Amino acid sequence: MRDHGGLDIHSVLNDLGITGEVSAGDLVVHSPADGAKIGAVKTHSATDCDKIIAQSVKAFKEWRNVPAPRRGELVRILGEILREKKEALGALVTLECGKIYQEGLGEVQEMIDICDFAVGLSRQLYGLTIASERPGHKMREYWQPMGPVGIISAFNFPVAVWSWNSALALVCGDSLIWKPSEKTPLTALACQKLFEDACKRFGDDAPVHLSQLLIGEADIGEQMVRDTRMPVISATGSTAMGRKVAPIVAERFGRSILELGGNNAIIVAPSADLDLAFQGIVFGAVGTCGQRCTSTRRIFVHDDVYDQLVPRIKKAYGGLSLGHPMAAETLVGPLIDKASFDLMEAALDKVRTKGANIIGGGRALADQYPDAYYVNPAVVEMDGVADNVMEETFAPILYVFRYSDLDDAITRQNAVPQGLSSAIFTRDVLEAELFTCEAGSDCGIANVNIGTSGAEIGGAFGGEKETGGGRESGSDAWKGDMRRMTSTLNYSKELPLAQGIKFSVGE
Ligand code: NAD
Repeated sequence: MRDHGGLDIHSVLNDLGITGEVSAGDLVVHSPADGAKIGAVKTHSATDCDKIIAQSVKAFKEWRNVPAPRRGELVRILGEILREKKEALGALVTLECGKIYQEGLGEVQEMIDICDFAVGLSRQLYGLTIASERPGHKMREYWQPMGPVGIISAFNFPVAVWSWNSALALVCGDSLIWKPSEKTPLTALACQKLFEDACKRFGDDAPVHLSQLLIGEADIGEQMVRDTRMPVISATGSTAMGRKVAPIVAERFGRSILELGGNNAIIVAPSADLDLAFQGIVFGAVGTCGQRCTSTRRIFVHDDVYDQLVPRIKKAYGGLSLGHPMAAETLVGPLIDKASFDLMEAALDKVRTKGANIIGGGRALADQYPDAYYVNPAVVEMDGVADNVMEETFAPILYVFRYSDLDDAITRQNAVPQGLSSAIFTRDVLEAELFTCEAGSDCGIANVNIGTSGAEIGGAFGGEKETGGGRESGSDAWKGDMRRMTSTLNYSKELPLAQGIKFSVGE
């Protein structure tokens, strides 16, 4: 294996300064790369959770008074520290969640990018000035901090999702509680350490407990979700998780930002640049071993180009470089665990019984890594649509369909319950515009001539339908972390009522 300069688990934990914290605890962490134990951390109890929330409320009351540009300075320092620790944190992401090192580095770069974005935002939390209908009156909009923001994150983006939320919420004046995936607590502890280092460099304005971790499984997450002291819950994970979290938050009139499962498709039109389409599809379908919310799960290929493109994809699947995610030549690392492998196999079994033509599938590298779950990514060609095509199987399965009419392809693309990411490859401007018009893709992301996977932080990220409707990251997603206040100011000597209502009280 050509590895990356001795970035093994011991050196990485040491470099990140968390060796002591991950050496003993009830939550044992195994690397999906080889099944080896890489740490054990202490989980929080219900009493701890209650205390953490109380501390967060206290920290919020101090932090909200710090001017926003000064809050941005803390995030700037965090970005600086992330630059210094990019290699170590990227390697820990790889060792803990199994994505290849290039993607581990990319994830940390995404954290750096959102920090930069948030620093600029800290001077741009603009509200509107609005024309009043009354003489001698002004209306203004203020954006105010909300309170403690609860962040629940999934295993597959163990650090980036925290940063999308935290960088924005911090400049917005909120305190944070992060419940990371129980599968990836080490990267969360590393981020917490880097955040505390940033606070030290920043100085006294950062209150103690400004950002805290809540380590444990769904039950401890649910306790935080139920707590009325948490005005915002930003939850990233499966649709099944969102189905539980959303009603609990709604019942207590909290605000939830939901980033849930996707079932993303690419349409390849007759005029498409097939080299681009080929690259975009294969990266989208097998990258991160099919474990991105934006992974490409379905393609609709026009009859005219089907026989040029689909055999190329199938051939490429035969030569994919599978292996340890730290090895430089690896393109496809492991699945997170056995449960994930079983779900992939069950999905393939279902379509096999319907007569689908399947290339790939099954376990790989089992002799070398008996305690890890490497798989051969699968391409499935089929005529009809089996039930499981409507579901998100979090594994590298690509369902391939033909089409002859673009309206029909868009309808079939939109026919799934999820609505996260979508793309079309075409050089026909009319097709591109149709795809992104109101009658086109129904997803939160609709790309032209790039794949479904790999968003930039500058845009708002999220999707519709069972994807949850939340938006994080760029554009004006920060408004989700603040409350809007409308203020009318009277500088006249009269008290006219809105809508011309007459109400005069005699004395
Ligand atoms: P998961 O739903 O199993 O877990 C996600 C997180 O939710 C974990 O921290 C878990 O402990 C917590 N959780 C689960 N039930 C909970 C409950 N009742 N109350 C509070 N917290 C609870 O998801 P996963 O397997 O870690 O991640 C994969 C899923 O995440 C996929 O469906 C993927 O599409 C989705 N995802 C979505 C996005 C997005 O932005 N839309 C990004 C990454 C991942």
